[in-house]
Parts: sequence; structure tokens; C-alpha cells
Amino acid sequence: METKEFKAESKRLLEMMINSIYTHREIFLRELISNASDAIDKLYFKSLTDSSVGMNRDDFAIRIVPDKASRTLTISDNGIGMTKDELEANLGTIAKSGSLQFKNENEKAEDVDIIGQFGVGFYSAFMVAKEVKVISKAYGADKAYVWASEGVDGYTVDECEKDSVGTDIILTLKDNTDDDKYDEYLEQYRLSALVKKYSDYIRFPIKMDMERERLKEGSENEYEKYTETVTLNSMVPLWKKNKSEITEEEYNEFYKDKFFDFEDPLCHIHAKNEGAATYNALMYIPARVPFDFYTKEYEKGLQLYSSGVMIMEKCPDLLPDYFSFVKGLVDSEDLSLNISREMLQHDRQLKIIAKNLEKSIKNELSKMLKNDREKYEKFFSTFGLQLKFGVYQNYGMNKDVLKDLLMFKSSFEKKNVTLAEYVSRMKEDQKYIYYACGESVDKIDMLPQTELVKDKGYEILYFTDDVDEFAVKMLMSYDDKEFKSVSANDLNLETDEEKEAVKKQSDDNKELFEFMKQTLDGKVSEVRLSTRLKTHPVCLTSVGNISLEMEKVLNSMPNAAENKVKAERALEINASHPIFEKLRSLFETDKDKLAEYTKILYAQATLIEGMPVENPVELSNMICELMV
Ligand code: ADP
Repeated sequence: METKEFKAESKRLLEMMINSIYTHREIFLRELISNASDAIDKLYFKSLTDSSVGMNRDDFAIRIVPDKASRTLTISDNGIGMTKDELEANLGTIAKSGSLQFKNENEKAEDVDIIGQFGVGFYSAFMVAKEVKVISKAYGADKAYVWASEGVDGYTVDECEKDSVGTDIILTLKDNTDDDKYDEYLEQYRLSALVKKYSDYIRFPIKMDMERERLKEGSENEYEKYTETVTLNSMVPLWKKNKSEITEEEYNEFYKDKFFDFEDPLCHIHAKNEGAATYNALMYIPARVPFDFYTKEYEKGLQLYSSGVMIMEKCPDLLPDYFSFVKGLVDSEDLSLNISREMLQHDRQLKIIAKNLEKSIKNELSKMLKNDREKYEKFFSTFGLQLKFGVYQNYGMNKDVLKDLLMFKSSFEKKNVTLAEYVSRMKEDQKYIYYACGESVDKIDMLPQTELVKDKGYEILYFTDDVDEFAVKMLMSYDDKEFKSVSANDLNLETDEEKEAVKKQSDDNKELFEFMKQTLDGKVSEVRLSTRLKTHPVCLTSVGNISLEMEKVLNSMPNAAENKVKAERALEINASHPIFEKLRSLFETDKDKLAEYTKILYAQATLIEGMPVENPVELSNMICELMV
């Protein structure tokens, strides 16, 4: 029989397969099983309407037979089979393969990982086999044919013997080299692991004869070998079952098994959709932060299946960054097996799915917040930071999705509150949502700046995460209520009389304040009377857009060294504190001492803010001098 040449394109794809790198090879089994399953699908479908097929659903199976003696691996199915013409047309040319087309368009991009990213179909057999034989008998045909090829040189098609309808793919594995061992594809455990990994949810049984050992009957230490036919795949994808058929435990076990966690997840989200995009999605929110979550190695994404066959381990485009902690998978019949990562990015269907999934996740979280507060707070303490960053990132583009999911500790019962809860409790005369920044709730509570706001009975949100104030700057307002730092210089909480009194006192002591400002030599832009202090003598506040807290955060960033940010400061003095009278009298009698006092007060205010003083030795000396 004459040897036929492959079409040019097929030849190129074949060459790529033959020279594939190790990490890609194992997918050949997935590809062949998936073809077998498609072939069975076709005959099964026929059998539903045509009783002469003479097959029941249970009769269909895929078989894997490793044979170490002949170094062959056979994958058999009793599906629709191929005629002689079909063997030629289907296996002699790769016409529809999207991968080659892509390769042509990207001729220069030699490093494009084409095999890793595409479903490569039948030819992937050549990644592990030096010879491939396809013995097939088509349904309705009375003759069987064998297609055989040893690679790029071409293929032959001959008549052969085969009793039953279906296809056997016989791979003669490549010889081992020093670096590459192809024998692994003859090992039962390896094959069964590959089926589990890639083809667990193929809807027909994938069977293999497994060699086992058992105690000989009547013996206590003598073993005998026997063979048992096992089904390697679980067949029904959990995500395709009805929610009502799945127990909580099944959901959790599936999660732990599939996503390598030893703890139950916090919750699962099982979403089905039909319409603009048809898919089943099963997603989980882990109960704890994945160990590599804050490392560069962490990749967000969901597993992607096309009709039960896994096509991508982690598809990042399915999850927004702020939900990067979500684990799970999506199965859609709208996606083809042969879709590349690059093509996926532009896939309209995938975009719709991603948008829907984002909504599902958000809804689940909102529901949890409403119905299971304790659980939600656990979630928020684990992944809340992610949501806050989400508000801040991309210039606040996603703030509306996330704002109702945010929580902050507040002065009201020292518990977590949502912004909606805060606003619902606002006093009638309260204009702003007040917040205070600091390292911890306790430290914030001690801040002199919080005195007046608390005195008015207004609730204060405690911002203890670096990102908090930045996130709120993006939000700007919630429910039309503006956010306001307790350190802002325009709190506007005084009555008109109080304002008047402060103004008068300020005017009367103008020269004193000017002297103090000069003494501080550019460290502050203003020394002024405070309207917010009740018992404390002094505090520092910021003037302008950058707060002291933001200064701290920005300057602690990795590349901040050259570009130090500085908030403009004001030193505020409490007029009703005895120290104020002291300052006034020193201004008349002892300017040198006033200068020292000023420096000490400034240092105190700096320390209260949780910032280091510039010259601790000088401060210590000044205080000692006062003591002796
Ligand atoms: P794809 O599966 O993406 O179409 P392949 O290269 O894997 O591309 O297969 C080409 C064609 O060969 C299939 O579309 C199918 O018609 C046929 N084919 C492959 N394997 C089998 C099989 N086991 N039984 C019947 N037909 C098959």
C-alpha cells in the first residue's frame, strides 16, 4: 500500500508534537479520551432514535490497555468509528485546527507556548509515540481499516480485521532516552492519575484492568495476583448535579480534593446559567488565606472546562483581582477545546461568564453579610484587605461593586460596622462620616484629635489598615455623606459663639503663635488654637490633601526613599489647658524658655501621632533640664 503525504500544515503541527517538551506530553491521553468520548456520544445519540444500533447507555465504554511487553498503549472506544474516507480526511489533514492558524499569524513569536495552550487533538499522540495505529470500523460499514503513521513521512491506510464497531488507537511508545522516560505511560498508577486529573468527568466509563494482589484463600501469608477491571473516572461532574442532590460534605470534600486545602471552605457558590452564556460554575471561598496568597507565585483564576473536559488549569480572566481568593471551576459548552489563552482573552462568551461570576460572588457575600454575620466577619478578617485594595485600585473603577461589602471597626461598641450601618446611625445634625487613622483601635482611642467628635456623640471609624484612608479617598462619599478625618482642619463642629471666642483669642495671641512657628523653623505651617481638643494640651493635624497617616504609608513603600512625601502640619494648642497660660506668660518674660517649651510640645504631638521625633537626645535633655 502506498504511503501518503500529510498536508503541509499537518506536517508542521506533527513536527511540533514530535519535538514537544516534557511538561506538555501527558495531555495526549486527555485528547485521545476526549475524541473517544465524542465518538461514543455520536453513536449513543444515534442509538436513542435508531433501535438497530442495538446498544444501551451502559454498553458504552472507553478502555485503556497498557502492554509492557509490546511497549504499546491502546485506547479503545465503541463509538461511531471512521470509514476509510474519514480516516484519510480526519487524520491526514488538520484543517480546522485553530492552533495552526494562530501559529501562522504569529510567525515571529517563536516562543509562543502553543502546545501548552491549545487542545491539540489527535496528533498529540505523536508526543509520546513513535508509531500510531488507528484501527476503526464505522457504524454501518462492513469493512474495517487501519491508519498507520510513524510521523512526518506520511501515513498508510489498509483494510484490516475488526469485529465490533469503534476505534482502537494503538500507540507504540518512543524509546527511552537518558532524559526522557516514556515507560511511565505504561504504568497503571500513572495512567489512572492522568485520567483523574484531566478526564474525571467524561460521561462514559474509562476502564482499565488493574493488577492486584490478595491473600490466597485459606492462607495467612500467601498472596496471589488477580486482575480487576476498574472504572477510573467518576463520570458525573459534581457541578452538573442538582444542588439538592449534593450534600454539604460532598461540596467540601470536592473542594479539599481538588484545590489542595485541608480545611473546609467558608462557603461554596454553585451557579448555573443558560442564555447569553451557558455554563455551570462551582466556586469556593477558602476559610483561610492560601499559604502563597501574598507571594508572586500566587495565580488567581478558575479551572476551565469545555463540556466536561478540562482545557485550562487556571483561567485568570474569569476573576477580578479583588476576588482573587476565590477557587473553583467553570464548565461551558460555549467554549471549544481548541481555544488558546490569547484567543480566550478576547472571547466574548468568556467575558459574559466572568461578569456573571463576579455578580454571583458579590451576591453570595452580600447574602452572607445579611444572614450570617459571624461568618462574614470571619471572611472579612481574612480577605477584607483584598476588597479595600479593590476599591482603591484602577482609580476607584470598581468602588460601587465593593463599597457595601466593606467593614471597619468603629467607636460604637468597638465592633465591625458596614458603611450602611454607620450612616443609618448618624445623628440628625451630623454631616460627615468620621474616621481616625492609627496603628490599632487602642492607639486611635488615645488620640487627642478624637476627643471632640466623641464628645459630640458621633461614631468614629477606626482605620487601622494602611489602605483604608486611600480607599476612602476613592470612595469620597457614601450615601451622599462625605468622609472626614477627625484630624481635618475643617471639622466645623463648634457653635457660632465658640467660633467667635476662638477667633478673638487667636487674634489676641497672634504674636505668640508666630513666635512659636518661627521657633519650629519650617516644621509646621501654622501654630493655632484648637477647637477639637478637650483635655489634651496639643495635637498635630495636617493641612491639605495628604494626611499624616498617608505620609507614613507612602513613605514606607519600597521605592519611597528618594521621593519622601511630607504632609503639611499644623500644631494645635488647647486654649483651656493650663499650658496655654504658661506659654502666654513666657512670651512676656522668657522667650528662650518659650522656645524650649514649643519644641517639647511639638515633639509630644509628634509622638502622640505615632511618629518618631527628629532629635530624641535633644528632647531628653530639654526635659531633664526642666526637671532639675
Ligand atoms: P478534533 O477532535 O478537535 O476534531 P482531532 O485531531 O482530535 O481534532 O480529531 C480529528 C477528527 O478525527 C475528529 O473530529 C473525529 O471526527 C475523528 N476522530 C478522532 N478520534 C476518533 C475516534 N476515537 N473515533 C471516531 N472518530 C475520531
